[in-house]
Amino acid sequence: MHDDENTAVAATLGMLRRRGGRLVEVRHTGERNLRFRQGSDEYVFDPNRAFTDAGAEATLRDLGPFSKEAHGAVRAFAEAFLAAIDLESLREGPRLLVTVHNNEVGSYSARSYDHGGEHERDAERVRPKRRTDPDDFFFVTEPRHYDLLQGGSYHVVLQDNDVVTDDGSLSVWAARQELPYINVEAQHGHLRQQIDMLDFLNERLDVPGV
Ligand SMILES: [Zn+2]
Repeated sequence: MHDDENTAVAATLGMLRRRGGRLVEVRHTGERNLRFRQGSDEYVFDPNRAFTDAGAEATLRDLGPFSKEAHGAVRAFAEAFLAAIDLESLREGPRLLVTVHNNEVGSYSARSYDHGGEHERDAERVRPKRRTDPDDFFFVTEPRHYDLLQGGSYHVVLQDNDVVTDDGSLSVWAARQELPYINVEAQHGHLRQQIDMLDFLNERLDVPGV
């Protein structure tokens, strides 16, 4: 989703070579946020805030100027992105949307959802782990996926779908669609960990009856 998160792409492409599947990648300038011009104004938005009207408005206002037309363009980007994922084909197979992201040390992590964290109210459950970096964590929207992953080495956060802040992120959109969503989030450069997380997720999803 974010064009500066290249560890996530490398980890996923390796997994796709071994297991098959499809990756949809946003390609831009290599920066996290997307920029575009309308008339004489330049607009900036976070692509992972474009999936609801409220989120698209907030990210434009946060990062630069706002206009109705720019808002329309951001929402059109989100629709084009969803078309590229091809949700209709997803609904025929295992109904699950997996995203991959990378984060910076000391910013967004599983701790953001724990007691006193910036996003505490957005999480229904958090399963911290002592031995692994909180920057490497699974973020899920369904209790069954939380249960599936919480016995492993990595931190797991379950989104509280009833009260989660409408920030326009794909996890919020997916919860509204009742489309199961799992984000495999790792620190920039944690390639080995992110590959291990994807392998662990696949192993757990392969368990019969899941
Ligand atoms: Zn990201």
